[in-house]
Amino acid sequence: MIKSRMEISAIICSVGMAAMILGGCGKSGNVEPTEAASEVTVEGAAETATSEINEETAKEAEAVTEETSTEEPWKTRIEGISDDFIFGMDASSLLAEENSGVKYYDFDGNEQDALKTFADSGINYIRLRVWNDPYDEDGNGYGGGNNDLPTAIELGKRATDYGMKVMIDFHYSDFWADPKRQHAPKAWEGMSVEEKADALYGFTKDSLTQLLDAGVDVGMVQIGNEINYGMSGEKQFEKVAELLKAGSLAVREVSEAYGKEISVVVHYTRIQDKADVLTLVDRLIRCELDFDMIGMSYYPFWDGSFENMSRVLELINEKYGKKAFIAETSYCYTTEDGDGFGNSLSSKDLVKGYPASVEGQATVLHDICQYVSDANGIGIFYWEGAWIPVGPANADNSAIWEQYGSGWASSYASDYDPEDAGKYYGGSSWDNQAFFDFEGHPLESLKVFNYMLGK
Ligand code: CA
Repeated sequence: MIKSRMEISAIICSVGMAAMILGGCGKSGNVEPTEAASEVTVEGAAETATSEINEETAKEAEAVTEETSTEEPWKTRIEGISDDFIFGMDASSLLAEENSGVKYYDFDGNEQDALKTFADSGINYIRLRVWNDPYDEDGNGYGGGNNDLPTAIELGKRATDYGMKVMIDFHYSDFWADPKRQHAPKAWEGMSVEEKADALYGFTKDSLTQLLDAGVDVGMVQIGNEINYGMSGEKQFEKVAELLKAGSLAVREVSEAYGKEISVVVHYTRIQDKADVLTLVDRLIRCELDFDMIGMSYYPFWDGSFENMSRVLELINEKYGKKAFIAETSYCYTTEDGDGFGNSLSSKDLVKGYPASVEGQATVLHDICQYVSDANGIGIFYWEGAWIPVGPANADNSAIWEQYGSGWASSYASDYDPEDAGKYYGGSSWDNQAFFDFEGHPLESLKVFNYMLGK
């Protein structure tokens, strides 16, 4: 079995299947690092320079550093940002983490709900994925948070209590849906596309009704997750469009019945392929799908430059009159692994100019939000900022992941997803990209959200 981060890295490299370890954030196997990481860090270069100058100059340089540190760019307000800019956080794995015994703390070291810490830090939206039936025939969870509807209701209610709005991310699958896989839910197997559309409509309407009845402040709904190449087992665009129309209709009907504004979102990835993304949106317009927004995944270490990302959002808005935002993004604060299961982002994939540090993580976020704001994008969602270790890296945490679904996949997902989960199930591949350290204490970088609004 997989025992170390090195072995996992080797597997990823050898078969080009980073998406397996990603646990559904949607990278296809042939993604390329945006830019190779420089082995010479800024700190390293500074040390070399300092050794060559005299002590007095070194002291002066130190004084300047201290002076400028109070004006670090990531602590400044974003120029021109809208007051209602969405600072979203995907916190789908949180309940499974808590069930696994994970504790979270506030900045003073007191135990505190991670959702409250997010709200206090300027997060105003929580994103929650929903899988139709993420369990095997014996009721064992597939992992990845075991994100069924009751989980979304529980987390959604808590987020609402802290004053945040909620985005529901329907995968229309029983487990991860991304460019590599869009399996139909087990209950939909063998259905015609018309039957699937009916089932999808019913599932969407029933789920949203339960969420709203429970008091969850749903403001946005994703009808599908990273659906560039299909959805719910369908690949042909006309069939996918039929499913999307059923989902949109269900959202509209619930929205009207409850007198509540809920935006319909279509979610794509591979933003670096600008022409492909625009073609996808163009087809939605031509088939007259009723939707409001396009959400794009954008991982800066895989998905191209800030400039390109910003331009795509701008074009979606200019050409098609649709609001655009970043539905998933992230960056690491360390290259260490915290739970004994290798991480998706390692030192070789770092974005040039942004070290794997708390400040690097905050600065990437600040810069991404500046570019999104400049392009009239309505906001960003950070992906899984609370998915930290359930136990130390030197322990075998498998039993916990299997029991509570707090790893990216459990062995129980093998029958449903034999190609990925069946081979590579395990723990969190994202613990170095969370906003809490391996023991659950919030990082200073979490304060970037308030700073960006000038708070
Ligand atoms: Ca890990």
